[in-house]
Amino acid sequence: MNVIEARKSKQVLVGPVVIGGDAPISVQSMCATDTRDVKKTLEEIGRLEEAGCDIVRVAIPDPEAAQALVRICRKSPIPVVADIHFDYRLAVSAIRAGADKIRINPGNMRDHNGLSKIVKEARKACIPIRVGVNAGSLDRKLVDEYGGITPEALAASAVLAVRELERLDFTDIVVSAKASSPKLMIETYRLLSDAIVYPLHLGVTEAGTTSEGVVRSAVGIGTLLAEGIGDTIRVSLTADPVEEVRAGFAILKALELRQRGATLISCPTCGRTEVPLMEIAEEMEKRLLNIREPIKVAVMGCVVNGPGEAREADVGIAGGRDHFVLFRHGEVIRKISQENAVDELTAEIKSILAERGDRSGSE
Ligand code: SF4
Repeated sequence: MNVIEARKSKQVLVGPVVIGGDAPISVQSMCATDTRDVKKTLEEIGRLEEAGCDIVRVAIPDPEAAQALVRICRKSPIPVVADIHFDYRLAVSAIRAGADKIRINPGNMRDHNGLSKIVKEARKACIPIRVGVNAGSLDRKLVDEYGGITPEALAASAVLAVRELERLDFTDIVVSAKASSPKLMIETYRLLSDAIVYPLHLGVTEAGTTSEGVVRSAVGIGTLLAEGIGDTIRVSLTADPVEEVRAGFAILKALELRQRGATLISCPTCGRTEVPLMEIAEEMEKRLLNIREPIKVAVMGCVVNGPGEAREADVGIAGGRDHFVLFRHGEVIRKISQENAVDELTAEIKSILAERGDRSGSE
């Protein structure tokens, strides 16, 4: 049983994916392609779906992109969210094109008549609207009123937009309030979790490249999820969006909120290591990427902590002098040479997955 007590939010449906309430935390990403290039966008969506992405967002900067959405939505294997800034007419077109959700930014969409037109279309299509506040485009009036881009100002921006939608009798809402500072974003979402009942989409925006961005996202998103706050997540990276999905699942796996794919446990190595552990761990990490089933794999350097960790895992190896001991489900299977360690461990993983009926394997 997970001891994290989740905040109970209202549920909304994005295509067949449930966000909020008791639903699993969904993982989102955003295409980096030009939306007008339908082929490339669909290819990217396919790779994201393979990696486990539940919901994908695409940018709709112009009418041509909204038009392309018709074919993208028809063929996408996962629900598609249309990202709209400035122009309510693009939101209306995107909804008509088949978007499963619309993201609007209250900081740059202030036309009340436009909002009511978006609401009318969203209601007709039975799709939710995400109010997506961003610290970088916060309404100037709120910045002045709160004396800067503060958690209170960000939360107020989101709440004002939510209240406006409620006044239009629309409650199919998801809310986000992202900032590039994990601290600012954490404090903002804490305020929001008390102020509104709608599901929260968590993210640290403009988090950076993979190495820095994953850490910043894990701190921001992970802290909130550990407090039971958050219903859906997106890790934003300056990288292939597939990395965002992998990082998203890594955060959820670390908190035992969702399981997907392999978890590699490997030791940092030290003066006791007598095998080329770093190379072996790196190679194993690559081979584990395509596995969908949860499986714990340990790659340990020596007999001090090695056998203990290797035994806890589904399968693992612990190094000795120029060789490894292979464990499976806590049992020593055999000694293997360091040259064959990667292949033999891979074969063992395949055999465990085959026994469970998962043919995705480790390539
Ligand atoms: S498992 Fe062994 S080799 Fe690895 S860090 Fe610990 S003591 Fe060192």
